[in-house]
Amino acid sequence: MKNLIKKAVQNHNLNREELIALLEDDNCAPALLAAADEVRKQYVGDEIHLRGLIEFSNFCKNNCCYCGLRRDNHRLERYRIDTPTILKLAEHAAAMGLKTVVLQSGEDPWFTTGRMTEIIRGIKKLGVALTLSTGEKSLQDYQAYREAGADRFLLRIETTDRDLYLRHDPGMSWDSRRQCLADLRTAGLEVGSGCLVGLPGQTTASLADDILFFKQIDADMIGIGPFIPHPDTPLRNAEGGKLDLALKVMALTRLLLPDINIPATTAMETLAPDGQIRALQGGANVIMPNVTLTAYRKHYELYPGKSATGYTPDESLQKVIEKINGIGRTVCKTQGFHIRNSKQQ
Ligand code: SF4
Repeated sequence: MKNLIKKAVQNHNLNREELIALLEDDNCAPALLAAADEVRKQYVGDEIHLRGLIEFSNFCKNNCCYCGLRRDNHRLERYRIDTPTILKLAEHAAAMGLKTVVLQSGEDPWFTTGRMTEIIRGIKKLGVALTLSTGEKSLQDYQAYREAGADRFLLRIETTDRDLYLRHDPGMSWDSRRQCLADLRTAGLEVGSGCLVGLPGQTTASLADDILFFKQIDADMIGIGPFIPHPDTPLRNAEGGKLDLALKVMALTRLLLPDINIPATTAMETLAPDGQIRALQGGANVIMPNVTLTAYRKHYELYPGKSATGYTPDESLQKVIEKINGIGRTVCKTQGFHIRNSKQQ
């Protein structure tokens, strides 16, 4: 395993069998995370990018079996934040010093292209970078977002295993999702993707394929989240994903895509109080503090126990900064594009 890790550090390449071997060997985890940390330091440095997350609608037309926002979850109180309030939240995020705003929602058709571009233009006047995470749209929509000023888009593939995808995302098409990722690139947006780790029926071979897929699409950002069962979903009784495995998938992603942006995800923190710290010390270089108003946050429950629910945006940010400084890292003052695109900043 030592030699495989060394090879990955030097060449940023591993084949499917090598990835599977590393994923299946629990003993190699400390060395793997240390190697990813070293590569992170070498390629993207010690600064951490903060992205202010606004969860502006929890309506979703889809029915993903693992997600608390799924259409058939009638126990969820739904909300949409109106445009002036979204702009106020973004303004507050910018005033707090955040250089990127992330607008996230379920797939909510109420936010038409016209409404979205109005919001995008409003936020871009604040001088921040803007990331969207609003699901599958047409190429024309993505182009309209880009023309209005959006910089990046997050669309997790969730799993590259088609059968698994179809089982857990009923009514959706893996090919359409793949096409959306290609369209985002065509539209000129930075492309973020990622996967869930620990879905029922998922194998280490499938996780290895996910990592190779991230390399194949030449992703700008990759977010890895352990699967956490939600009580109001069909997967309520499933065994959840393991933090250790999610961290290994993340570390291997850093080794193969050394200069991209990788968040220490909130789901990692939900599984362990030091989940994000371990991620930051295992290849991650991004944190997304939640700047949504506390009143809405409890209803944006993709999975139970989403960390820090109940804190105000200012408190969330303060906690994150303390965490960063506590491990000797600093907050980046730039907009934090993928290094190869950083001339846009
Ligand atoms: S994962 Fe996304 S698309 Fe699926 S139900 Fe949840 S919010 Fe909707």
